[in-house]
Amino acid sequence: MPFAAQLTPGQTVAQHTITEYTLTAEQLHKAEGLHRTNVALTLVETVFSLVVIAVFLALRVAPRLERWARRVSSKRPAQTIVYFPALLFLLALLGLPLEMYGHHISRAYGLSVQGWGSWAGDWMKEQIVSLLLSTALLTGLYWLIRRSPRRWWLHGWLLSLPVILALVFLAPVVIDPIFNRFEPLAKSNPELTRRLQDMAHSTGLDIPESRIFLMHASDKVTTYNAYVTGFGATKRIVVWDTTARDMTTGQVLFVFGHETGHYVLHHIYKGMAFSFLLSFFGFYLAKVLLEWSIARYGRSWQVESAAAWSSLPVLLLVASLLGFLGSPIGNAFSRWQEHQADCYGLALTARSTPNSAQVAAQSFQLLGEKALAYPTPSRLLVLWNYTHPTIASRIRFAIEHPDGR
Ligand SMILES: [Zn+2]
Repeated sequence: MPFAAQLTPGQTVAQHTITEYTLTAEQLHKAEGLHRTNVALTLVETVFSLVVIAVFLALRVAPRLERWARRVSSKRPAQTIVYFPALLFLLALLGLPLEMYGHHISRAYGLSVQGWGSWAGDWMKEQIVSLLLSTALLTGLYWLIRRSPRRWWLHGWLLSLPVILALVFLAPVVIDPIFNRFEPLAKSNPELTRRLQDMAHSTGLDIPESRIFLMHASDKVTTYNAYVTGFGATKRIVVWDTTARDMTTGQVLFVFGHETGHYVLHHIYKGMAFSFLLSFFGFYLAKVLLEWSIARYGRSWQVESAAAWSSLPVLLLVASLLGFLGSPIGNAFSRWQEHQADCYGLALTARSTPNSAQVAAQSFQLLGEKALAYPTPSRLLVLWNYTHPTIASRIRFAIEHPDGR
């Protein structure tokens, strides 16, 4: 197995010229352990969720829950808010031990500092948000399937566009604040905000103070991050407080330059358009697979048709299968956007920061060290699972293409 070159102990990022992604022997040891655990955990989670659904089908859990919902009330809306949340919450509860193990690992490796009480609170909030949303969307979907057994996939696909738009628009103002605290970056870092705005301004871009936010991440995690979210009136750049606190101004400027790239290159719109187009095939294949499996096994599962609520586990099985098969496509698109944003950040900082490619490499190095990013993941894993290019390749690109071209 190839190893990354190593720093001598005590040597820090600022004290040497970066030529590649390097970890100390101790960091590398940890990164390997974390990498192995995460790969195993992902595989176990994927297989486990498929097995649970298979068991649900074999034990006819969904038809039982549906009959129970009918006994609870004779009214359809009341049955809806009993059946869907009950089935989905049961699935979430069964997946909880693995999620807890994941959080335990994050704490053990020092990536998370979030206590169990706070974590449990977040988990509950997540369940409430997702149950409300899924119940509404599934009620609509099953209504469509009943109304139009042959064309529901097409109507569902068309209606998914306003749903995606609404969710992306509302996420930063309605959903994100449920889990984390946000404030204008200018409140705590006025000087940094001005520098960020000046840099954006040098490309003729005006990013108002009111669209640059600080997220209080440090009470939960130790890692660094920044991101662009929302669109139209809610479009914004968010910097985690860990990033603003630990990185030098030059490094934060590069991170911000990368995010400005997402902002200027309209990556949110393009991402929504891409997932909408991709989901055309998803909806169609879901219909075909759903009908095929019900025709074949429906009798033994006690699922009469796609329109019956009891087909939900089959739909979930089909959706997770398609999601798994589609993830290399979605992730390749994401890695391509991330690379474009890196290029933009390099080009932008090349004008204002001395030795800008080195500063960019330092930012990546810090990002990788903090997250214990594994230096040499397999190509297959990157293809399937990585939303960003590997840290090693991002550093290599910055050094070989200092102005991003
Ligand atoms: Zn990015």
